[in-house]
Order: sequence, then structure tokens, then C-alpha cells
Amino acid sequence: MEEYQHEEEPKSWWKTAISFILVLLVIAMLVVYFFYPFDTIDFGIKSAGNTNFSLMNNSVDANGANEQFYDNMRYPDSTISYRIDDCPLQKKNDMEGALEILSNKTLLEFQPVIIDEEISITCDSKNRVEGSLFIAGEGGPTNITRAGEFNVISHGMILLIKESKCERPNVAIHELLHALGFEHSLNSNNIMYNISKCDQIIGDDTIELINELYTLPRYPDLAIENVSAVMNGKFLDTNISIRNNGFKESGATNIMIYADDKLVKEVELSSLGIGHGSIILLENVLVLNLNVKELKFVINSDFDELDKRNNEIVLSV
Ligand SMILES: [Zn+2]
Repeated sequence: MEEYQHEEEPKSWWKTAISFILVLLVIAMLVVYFFYPFDTIDFGIKSAGNTNFSLMNNSVDANGANEQFYDNMRYPDSTISYRIDDCPLQKKNDMEGALEILSNKTLLEFQPVIIDEEISITCDSKNRVEGSLFIAGEGGPTNITRAGEFNVISHGMILLIKESKCERPNVAIHELLHALGFEHSLNSNNIMYNISKCDQIIGDDTIELINELYTLPRYPDLAIENVSAVMNGKFLDTNISIRNNGFKESGATNIMIYADDKLVKEVELSSLGIGHGSIILLENVLVLNLNVKELKFVINSDFDELDKRNNEIVLSV
């Protein structure tokens, strides 16, 4: 009996050892599987192609007319709010006449408001002389945000100094066009010439440019500016930069990342104001499919945008 027991002891010791080794092996294989492949694949960096709304190139024409202070300046919407404050009746009438003339000739609508106006109009009763010229008025955008190809005006002001002696309120029209982003013209027959005359006219190119700029609806435009990505084995490190190049604050949305058309990650993107951007940094995103050849980044917005083509970027090796 004693001999029999003596033989049994080493047998059970071996059993334990073998099962322990087997467990280690299984763990080791799982670890290998989990981290395989071990190599690093750099998908590089890609920037968004230039989205083009094929806008008229906003430069000086043959007559030196029609230039804006910056490219593609517009207010967010074709309906622009205004408030006239502290103006005597004649100048108030001039200004209202100018607003009506421009709204008849263009897509623009002007809406009087009591607070939070986009164009603030005031008057000055004192004549001012600068050099040899009487200053008729002042006007211009006072708050501009760059958003992609556009310079979005959120506020403009007009100071009307001289009342119009002409049939049309030329001074008020001139200052209103300044507030809409238009520069002086070198053409003395153009209403944007820096010295006012009664027979000056609003250039057709000015009207055309206004209509072209305001044809685009007041939508946000989320765009992927650039993306870089590196795969370390099964783990993705990525850097995504996004900007709102539209005329309106965007809603919150999601960014989806696909590896060879398989969704690997969904990240929330909070709302972005006009011209605002966001950078999303992700590290160690587990990608289960092997031999990834293509990574796709998509802004999955469910709202209207100026352009949805810039909502997607594909990186490939
Ligand atoms: Zn001027």
C-alpha cells in the first residue's frame, strides 16, 4: 500500500505542472493574437481638397469697381437686420430709401429691429472736413469672421453725416455698400467713388456679386480640414481637425471612423460656431480587422450643409 501511494504523488505533480504550462500557453497565444500584427503602418496625413462654390473672383475690374475689403464678404443671411438711431428725419428717410433701393435691386432684404441689429446706423449733425473734402459719412463691417472661402460679417456700422442733395440718396447707398463689405471704386461714375456726385450709379458688377454671394443659403458647413493616422498593430492613433466654414452654428453630430468599411469608432462632435474649429485626438482605438488598407473618416451630420463632399476623407496605404 505504501509503495502504491508513493507512485501516485509525482503523477499529480506533473499533471498540475502541465496544466499550468498549458494555461500560460493559451494566455501567451491570446496576447500574440491580440497584438498581431506588430508592425506600424503610417497612413500619413491628408488635407481636404479645396471646395469651390465657383464664386466670381472678387477682384478689381477694368473700371476699378466692385472690390470688397476681403474676399467673399457677406452677412450670414440674405435678410439683414438694422437699427437707425439718433437720426433726423431727412437722414432717416435717406437711409430707408437706400435700403429699399438695394433690396429692390438684389436678393437682400432689410429688417428693422429694436435690439441686436446687424447694421447699426447713426447720424452726426456736425460737418466734418478732412483735407479738402467734406466727409459725407462712414461705413463698414466692424466684425468679420473668416470661414473657409468666406468672410462672414456679423456686424457693420454706418455713420451718416451729410444728407443727400441728389434725387437718389447716394451718400446713404455708398455707406450701405461699405457696410456690406464694398471698397471704394476708382471709377468716378460709380457710386463707390470716394467723392460723391448725383449722377453716379450702382455698378452692375456690384449687384451681380451681391446676388452671387447671397444665393448660398444660410447653412453651416462642417469640413474635415485634415486627418493623420498611424496603426500600431491593431491600435489606431489619429488626429482629426474639423471646421465650420458655413454661415450658421452647426448642430452636434458624430464622426465615424471606418477601417475597410467596418465601423471602428464613433466620436461625438459638439456644435461649432461660424469659423470655429475642433481637433479630435484619439489614441489606441482597437481595430479588429487585419491588414487594413483604407481608413475613412466621415462627419455624419443630419442637417443641411453648404457642401457635404467635404464631410469625408479617405486615407489609404
Ligand atoms: Zn466711402
